[in-house]
Amino acid sequence: MLHLKNIAKYYHEPGSVVQALDSINLSFSNNEFVVITGESGSGKSTLLNVISGLDTYEDGELLFMGQETAYFSKDDWETYRKNNIGFIFQHYNLIESFTVFQNIEMSSIIKGMDKEARKQRVNDLIKRVGLSGKENQKASPLSGGEKQRVAIARALAKDAPLIIADEPTGNLDKKTGEKILELLKEISKDRLVLLVSHSFESVKPYATRHIRLFDGEVTLDKELTKRPEETEVKHETPQDMTLKNLIGLAFRNIFATPKRSLFTLLISLFIVIVFAGVYGSYVQQAYSLNGGTMSGIPNATEQRIIVTREDNKAFTDDERTAFREMNHVITTIDYDIILDLRLNIPVSNGAQRGGFRASGHAQHAETLSRSRLNEGRLPESPYEVVLSGDDFEVGDRVKIDYSMRFEPELSVYMEEYTVVGLVDSRTAFSFEFYFHESFFDNPLSIANAFLNRSNLPLHYNDMTFDLNFYDFAVTDEVPEGHIWLRERAMAQLGINEADNQSLDARFTEPFSQELHTMNLTLSAAAEGPDEFISGKMHPDTFASIFASIPPYQMTLIVEDSFAAERVLSALEGEGYNTLYPARQADPFTDMLRIIMSIVFGGMALGVAFIMYFIGYISLKNVMSAKRKDYVILRSIGLMKKELNLVTMFEMLITMLIAVGVVLIALNLNAHVFNFLPDYLRYYQFGNYLFMVIVLLALSVFLALRFNKRLFDISVISAFKEQ
Ligand code: ADP
Ligand code: MG
Repeated sequence: MLHLKNIAKYYHEPGSVVQALDSINLSFSNNEFVVITGESGSGKSTLLNVISGLDTYEDGELLFMGQETAYFSKDDWETYRKNNIGFIFQHYNLIESFTVFQNIEMSSIIKGMDKEARKQRVNDLIKRVGLSGKENQKASPLSGGEKQRVAIARALAKDAPLIIADEPTGNLDKKTGEKILELLKEISKDRLVLLVSHSFESVKPYATRHIRLFDGEVTLDKELTKRPEETEVKHETPQDMTLKNLIGLAFRNIFATPKRSLFTLLISLFIVIVFAGVYGSYVQQAYSLNGGTMSGIPNATEQRIIVTREDNKAFTDDERTAFREMNHVITTIDYDIILDLRLNIPVSNGAQRGGFRASGHAQHAETLSRSRLNEGRLPESPYEVVLSGDDFEVGDRVKIDYSMRFEPELSVYMEEYTVVGLVDSRTAFSFEFYFHESFFDNPLSIANAFLNRSNLPLHYNDMTFDLNFYDFAVTDEVPEGHIWLRERAMAQLGINEADNQSLDARFTEPFSQELHTMNLTLSAAAEGPDEFISGKMHPDTFASIFASIPPYQMTLIVEDSFAAERVLSALEGEGYNTLYPARQADPFTDMLRIIMSIVFGGMALGVAFIMYFIGYISLKNVMSAKRKDYVILRSIGLMKKELNLVTMFEMLITMLIAVGVVLIALNLNAHVFNFLPDYLRYYQFGNYLFMVIVLLALSVFLALRFNKRLFDISVISAFKEQ
């Protein structure tokens, strides 16, 4: 069954070569019990290691069941050991963190035996080696004799055709030693048992043959009993380990060493948090924009989407409700032209011409995050405002002018507001006004917006007169229902009599271009201080002109540009024109976005690379502690690809737990606690996928990196390295 022909083995030491085996020629059959003796250093262990494939040989040929092994690859040797060898090590080589049962079971798991068969066999062996009652104890506190019995039971659990034992009884008391020898004797009926022993006398009653080594050579080879005929014996054929077993083993490793696993989990958590944060902020940056200077819409924040109907009709109430209820939409502004109205706070000293303390656009208070508030609170009622800049204090009362006139006395429409909160300006050039939502429904704000942002053509007879920004004022000097026009304007409309001309005034609505009729009294205007003013009317008159105009153009206020993308795509094909002024679709910006996402993807990979090294350095100690167990697993026959899978599963499971924990934590942060920036909202499915793939790949690389050296060298050298 086993033939050694001229086997030689050298150890290369720096400066010298030791010949541990010198042309060994031996043949064994499958029912012998061979005891090998010799002085210390005579080559006994080396011989057993070579036969069992734990170590290599340099010269000669080893034939096992007719198979030549001189040209075996590393993989062939792994298979050879897995299939054929049950090895009982002098130093036990137990996995300290596993229980007695688990240690013994290991070799039968590796051999691919199913669970039931395993359990029975292991329990039977535990009884036979006298360890009943200790099956659930960890291996580490066992005595030397007990460990040796576990090691013996583990070698036998495999049902291998070749059992090799290197001084197994050295640490046992006489009685237990005899029991073990009996057991070995019994199993040698249908397999070859090779046993190294110091004391030939104690083994003699059991052995069938005695071989003595001296200085790497066989000096005695003597049959102690008549060699029985070699018979054909079938041993259980090994199966490949199933995926389930491999994953089970990974879990067993994780749970057997809770401290190490916890440390690995903490490192993984660190990696995931840093990666998710850095990658999340990159994703966020890819969506953030710096204002739509190209759009022609003055108030182009990334929270604004402008919608009109494709058929240019007014929005119905149902549509307006539906917009407000859309996902990602915070609120809607029906007359969104208000957002484009330029507001300013004039210098209060009327004598001083041409100055204003602040100028900017109206913003909806819902778009102001509380965290930006430096002082005060958000507006809660119509005449409250939050301002930016250092010029104001909470509690100040300011006049806000809607008409862009620099001199307060010329202002056509001005209201007093209380400053309730302050924010820092976003940029050095921008000034912000945050109003309560009622500001956007106030007919006067709406009317002023129309007046300032578009013409309001007033028709009389065949003439048209545009009331607009530069030449019309709204003031309560004028009674309700009256419009005062300057002579010049009256003449332009073809009205000669200056006084109280009652007429049905018709206005063209700015959006629909529909005519809107209302009875007004036109009279000649009193001369105003502003030569540019060509007319005046009472604010309520003015407001009522617009009161019945339904909204034709609305703004949807969304959470941010990421939300905007979702809303824009939800509106696609629904019969609306949409404009997202913060982002004009132009080839340049599109290209920039593509370049940005490539750069950010690259940066994320860079971060992953850094995390790999951090992971490598911090897990090095843990992994080298684990490596000892991995070498043991390998020594009892776990193959390279199987061990790689087990290690990979261990890392993957840990990483998946870390990813899960971080995602749950970030979700809780986003939806419940809000302590951190909400990175998750910028993640789309693809981003999640990218993150998970990168992190899992990272753990696979780490696992493979740690295993790399494990299989490049013989098992014996790997043990030496530990
Ligand atoms: P035994 O088991 O009979 O005590 P070994 O097989 O362990 O002897 O050793 C045989 C010879 O090989 C000894 O001279 C020993 O010093 C040498 N040897 C064993 N292992 C190594 C090794 N890894 N490197 C160098 N020399 C070794
Ligand atoms: Mg030895």
